[in-house]
Amino acid sequence: MNFLGFDFSDSLCAELSAMEESRRIPHAVIVTGGSDDSRRELVRFLSMWSVCTSHSSPCGECPQCIKCNSKNHIDVYYAKGTGKTDSISVDEVRRITADTAILPNEARRKVYVMYDADRRMGAEALNALLKTLEEPPQDMLFLLTAENPKALPETIRSRCVTLTMESDSIISEESLALAREILEGIVETGELRLLKACWVLASRQKALQVLPVVRLLLSDALAVSVCAQAIYDPQTASLLRRRLTKDKIIRLIDATSDAINKVNRNVNLTLLSTWICGEYRRISWQK
Ligand SMILES: [Zn+2]
Repeated sequence: MNFLGFDFSDSLCAELSAMEESRRIPHAVIVTGGSDDSRRELVRFLSMWSVCTSHSSPCGECPQCIKCNSKNHIDVYYAKGTGKTDSISVDEVRRITADTAILPNEARRKVYVMYDADRRMGAEALNALLKTLEEPPQDMLFLLTAENPKALPETIRSRCVTLTMESDSIISEESLALAREILEGIVETGELRLLKACWVLASRQKALQVLPVVRLLLSDALAVSVCAQAIYDPQTASLLRRRLTKDKIIRLIDATSDAINKVNRNVNLTLLSTWICGEYRRISWQK
């Protein structure tokens, strides 16, 4: 991925790179956090990345990127609003749904952008969208922005990857230490250390502090595994790299992203900490 010209946080860049690296490209993304402008900037990035033909995408220079950037790309569609509230009607969603059955014209995939989905989409329109998300056609990407993603139904959120715009905050020593404890627990033979380290996730505030750092340190290890440099914690990165295969690191990153999405969706946190502990053990010790 090429982040040149985009002012994203290191953690977001790491998350996007890991997504591409693992070749697990979602069918639908909810972009939240940050300002309206910053959310639209991530949508611009993801739609250019989806259509760009360059090896390092988005290049910003190929005909596909240029058309996308000026909102003139035939395969990138922006949902139109109607009325005073600029709402996206159920008819509009049905038109989009019908269009997803048709292959892309020029690009690898079609992109459908729905800005402010939390504000502009009513229950009926969301329901029509849900039907497509339940059985997504190949080669398409829905990009929704939402200031308040919790206003979207759980059924929609659970079928989307949530990407959060955040400022490049300095990682606290405490979060770093707690995240390290979890990662060292993952590679230790006995289960007890990991179990104890995951207890901290039973607090929502701690979970939202620590899990993104766990993911950053795993992204660091992934970087080391492809001969790049660790940014945050070279020592933990090289420990993880020695004990885990690249494939396992990718799956641990995915599991951590799932856990963060679950915390954002207000799941029971005691169950979450037990679940993630089990997932980490299963992934790291599977033959
Ligand atoms: Zn390009």
